[in-house]
Amino acid sequence: MHKKQKLAQKTEKTTENTIKKYNLLSKKDKILVACSGGKDSTTILHILKKLKYNVEAITVDAVIGNYTKENLENIKEFCKKHKIKLHIISFREEFGFSLCYIRSILKKKNINLTSCTICGVLRRYLLNKYSKKLNAAKLVTGHNLNDEAQGVIMNLLKNNLELLARQGPSTGISKNKNFVQRVKPLYFVSEKDIADYSKKMNFPVNYAPCPCRKGVYRCLINKLLTEHEQKNPGTHKNIIKWLLSISPILKKKFTTTKKQKLCANCREPSQQKLCMACKILSKIR
Ligand code: SF4
Ligand SMILES: [Zn+2]
Repeated sequence: MHKKQKLAQKTEKTTENTIKKYNLLSKKDKILVACSGGKDSTTILHILKKLKYNVEAITVDAVIGNYTKENLENIKEFCKKHKIKLHIISFREEFGFSLCYIRSILKKKNINLTSCTICGVLRRYLLNKYSKKLNAAKLVTGHNLNDEAQGVIMNLLKNNLELLARQGPSTGISKNKNFVQRVKPLYFVSEKDIADYSKKMNFPVNYAPCPCRKGVYRCLINKLLTEHEQKNPGTHKNIIKWLLSISPILKKKFTTTKKQKLCANCREPSQQKLCMACKILSKIR
């Protein structure tokens, strides 16, 4: 068998094993896949469809110029070809503004949040809101082994053990009916293997990074870990193995019996009176 074909089979098998081992998905459930138009989410959407899960795709357009325009076209083309229902949500329709505009208004008010922080908060907010609206049992994301290892190191360096406790193949500490559980079937697949899979399958995918990503903390950690991986193969896997070995202790420590609160404005889950999304939006309106 051709080397590339073997590698593609290995990626599919690793994904399937992760789903089974961590009981991530059921074929009876409606599953939404959060698609960005990048290689990771397109790969997981393809594998889940191939494994005959009941999948639909959802994409949140943050309106980042040609970058998101091209991504959107790619997702549409992919979903059309594979007969997958696609739900398109847009920052402009939901909030009235693009990500860049939201960031510039905040900056003028001396609120210096990175594009990724704003994008992450608003995107998570919309994905959870629409996953509930669309009655999805699970929300699948394209997070891979490298993303997760970077997240572990970032949370460690910031001494944020609660966020560390939330990491894992399925996100969160305990079940919360106001959150649609997010799961990561590509948890044990490396970024490189996903890129090879996506190229082998000729997916319509933009491999260029998002133009807003420059200079963010995650890029620094990515560079560090990539260099480490080259000198010490297995670095990313070892970080994940460590996380999974201490995860039960961390989850126990941060499990709360307190009633889960809802945002006073939007009724989405929130630890404070207003959720982060509403706080950001209140500054720009
Ligand atoms: S890199 Fe940052 S700004 Fe760009 S899409 Fe991802 S989270 Fe949003
Ligand atoms: Zn809110």
